Amino acid sequence: MLNFVILQKKQVVLHRLKAGKIEEMDSPQVYRKIIHLDMDAFYASVDQRDFPEYRGKAIAVGGSPDGRGVVATASYEARKYGVKSAMSSRMALQLCPQLIFTSPRFDVYRQVSYQIREIFHRYTDLIEPLSLDEAYLDVTVDKLGIGSAIDIAKAIKAAIKDELDLTVSAGVSVNKFVAKIASDMDKPDGLTFIGPSKIVKFMESLPVEKFFGVGKVTAKKMRELGLFTGLDLKKQREDDLVRWFGKTGHFFYRIVRGMDERAVVPNRSTKSVGIEDTFDVDIASLEELNMILLRLCKQLWTRIGKKEISGRTITVKLKYADFVQLTRSLTIDTSFDSEEKIYATAQGLLGKITLANKVRLLGVSLSNFVDEVDFPKEGVQLTLFENHP
Ligand SMILES: [Mg+2]
Repeated sequence: MLNFVILQKKQVVLHRLKAGKIEEMDSPQVYRKIIHLDMDAFYASVDQRDFPEYRGKAIAVGGSPDGRGVVATASYEARKYGVKSAMSSRMALQLCPQLIFTSPRFDVYRQVSYQIREIFHRYTDLIEPLSLDEAYLDVTVDKLGIGSAIDIAKAIKAAIKDELDLTVSAGVSVNKFVAKIASDMDKPDGLTFIGPSKIVKFMESLPVEKFFGVGKVTAKKMRELGLFTGLDLKKQREDDLVRWFGKTGHFFYRIVRGMDERAVVPNRSTKSVGIEDTFDVDIASLEELNMILLRLCKQLWTRIGKKEISGRTITVKLKYADFVQLTRSLTIDTSFDSEEKIYATAQGLLGKITLANKVRLLGVSLSNFVDEVDFPKEGVQLTLFENHP
């Protein structure tokens, strides 16, 4: 734990200098104070707020009652039936026949997102948005001198409730990794604090699936190696972890010891990560394109894993032999956290494109990481929700 503390200390000094408060740093127990905030069923909650007839009802934002399209966000009433983000409308209707589909109102969601961010700015300017409805805050030094990250999280939750009539779940800890997991532990309207004294136990008991970069494939490999929890990972030597999992092994080694020094970075610069391939010979078969898409998604997943980022928008790009280019996108309210999810979504998007001509280029990208969220352009969104009333 000690090396962890020392690494954190530098950053705290830096923040204090920035805030103009230079204090004696003789205590060895200096930790950062990180809050991860995640709005509860964001798009659906905003719709339920604005349209009283939807309150208490199972609603799905996006998708369509005729079974076409994909759910972007489901209300908690719909989640009880198993309806989830990125699920096909057909499947969602099977699980919940009374499901109400609403058209996404991205301008409204973006507007609300700015209002939320203004509330955050009352307490700190070290805000790293991950999407419209999710952000990390570093409140090691807060603007109002409140001091307690738990009190700040409570104040933010109250302001969002009072001023915007919405709920948010907060995770409070000393690093980004634990704060993010904590915010998900008591949804909706949760507040979970995992302090320094609890982190070791917490990480040890965490199922391996909860670690970044552990998709279904890695999870399967871990099970085969007998690794089920953080404690199992912790017992391994670093070079073994690297041998089994590549560079991510270094990350597993550190994170399971609570070592996550990633700073909260306002305005992260990555806007999208993408892979594309131009073919030697133009391709006409959807089956063949799907196989190439699978390979592209694997490469994309590797690249995302290295950057330790997560995104909510998948875009498939296709160029015909005559150089006419098309893109199709889908944004969900949770992030694309596995290779399988990315491929299933990309495949669905590709399936919506009419193969009018042979194809010379295929690409897939992940975006929507940051502040200025790049929602798909209107035309694309209309295509996705074309059958929606
Ligand atoms: Mg959310």
